[in-house]
Amino acid sequence: MTIYNFSAGPATMPQPVIQQIKDDLPSYKNSGMSVMEISHRSSLFDGIIADAEQDLRDLMNIPDNYKVLFFQGGGTLQFTAAPLNLATKYHRIGLLDSGHWADRAGDEASRVGVKVDVLDSTKDIKYTELPVLKDLKQDTYDYVHITTNNTIEGTAYSKIPDTGATELVGDQSSNFLAQQYKVEDFGAIMAGAQKNLGIAGLTIVIVRDDLIGKVKNLPSMVDYELFAKKNSMFNTPPVFAIYAAGLVLKWLKEQGGVPEMERRNLKKSGLLYDYLDNSKLFTAPVKKADRSLTNIPFITGDPDVDADLISKATAAGLLNIKGHRSVGGMRASLYNAMPYEGAQALVDFLEKYEADYWRTH
Ligand SMILES: *Cc1c(COP(=O)(O)O)cnc(C)c1O
Repeated sequence: MTIYNFSAGPATMPQPVIQQIKDDLPSYKNSGMSVMEISHRSSLFDGIIADAEQDLRDLMNIPDNYKVLFFQGGGTLQFTAAPLNLATKYHRIGLLDSGHWADRAGDEASRVGVKVDVLDSTKDIKYTELPVLKDLKQDTYDYVHITTNNTIEGTAYSKIPDTGATELVGDQSSNFLAQQYKVEDFGAIMAGAQKNLGIAGLTIVIVRDDLIGKVKNLPSMVDYELFAKKNSMFNTPPVFAIYAAGLVLKWLKEQGGVPEMERRNLKKSGLLYDYLDNSKLFTAPVKKADRSLTNIPFITGDPDVDADLISKATAAGLLNIKGHRSVGGMRASLYNAMPYEGAQALVDFLEKYEADYWRTH
């Protein structure tokens, strides 16, 4: 049975990458050592991290005046790090409250003493649409924080809100390299690796260099300037996760880069949305214009039917389609590594399930 893993994260990886990891595992580049065993100060690792940075720069067209930093601590630590490094003038940020992860970002910023103004929220409609930025007051906020893709609620910005002269910080954790954004539209971008870039334990920060170094003596492990100066090797970096991300980046390049990923993600998600929109059993609750390409929630409205469907899907090799506990229902995550055949298998399964359902109801 072919298995497809629709997990929201940690998530499915490209099969050729898993194979490469398997081949490399006992002895990396005939060194007699596993990547798990090599020093982060070794020339072997120098090659790994330098290639990963360069490949990411190529894939995202990252301008030279942006730093690429490799952190630990997940997207979540960046909810602390970003305000500490970047909210240095007004000590106040604007937030577009688009759901769980935006809310978490605001909460962590408040914990380090930064004022957080919610500029718009769609909480009252259960985040089934994106909040909209209107009349942003300039010279008020160090930056506006957005979540480009809302992993749990299934919305995504295809067009970035215009913040004028105010910086924009984007949490791209769940659509990093999955659709095209211009790095120049952001002062900083953060993304945990375990959705589109490999395995947990690594978080990428891309930040414009004039924005860093404004505060001295930050805690070292969240200090952007220090990490930039030390090439992300202030202490032991997550060696294996950076190696795995490097393989994913090479795979992405071979596949045709981010434009090709966006094309495929539109096709995969379009297949599922089309089916859901024509189904009499399932509903995709998110407003069409705001739909995510990578995380697709859907419901039947009956928790017992949802539970039955999820257990039958699991038995059929379609794994991890249970929705987040805050939304319920189902969610299919169709990240870069999910092949079209996976989306097709899911739609075939849902069609059959629906036909059986109407025969007995
Ligand atoms: C998963 C996720 C996070 C949190 O990531 P951790 O690595 O678990 O801290 C933050 N933001 C978004 C949009 C996510 O999808």
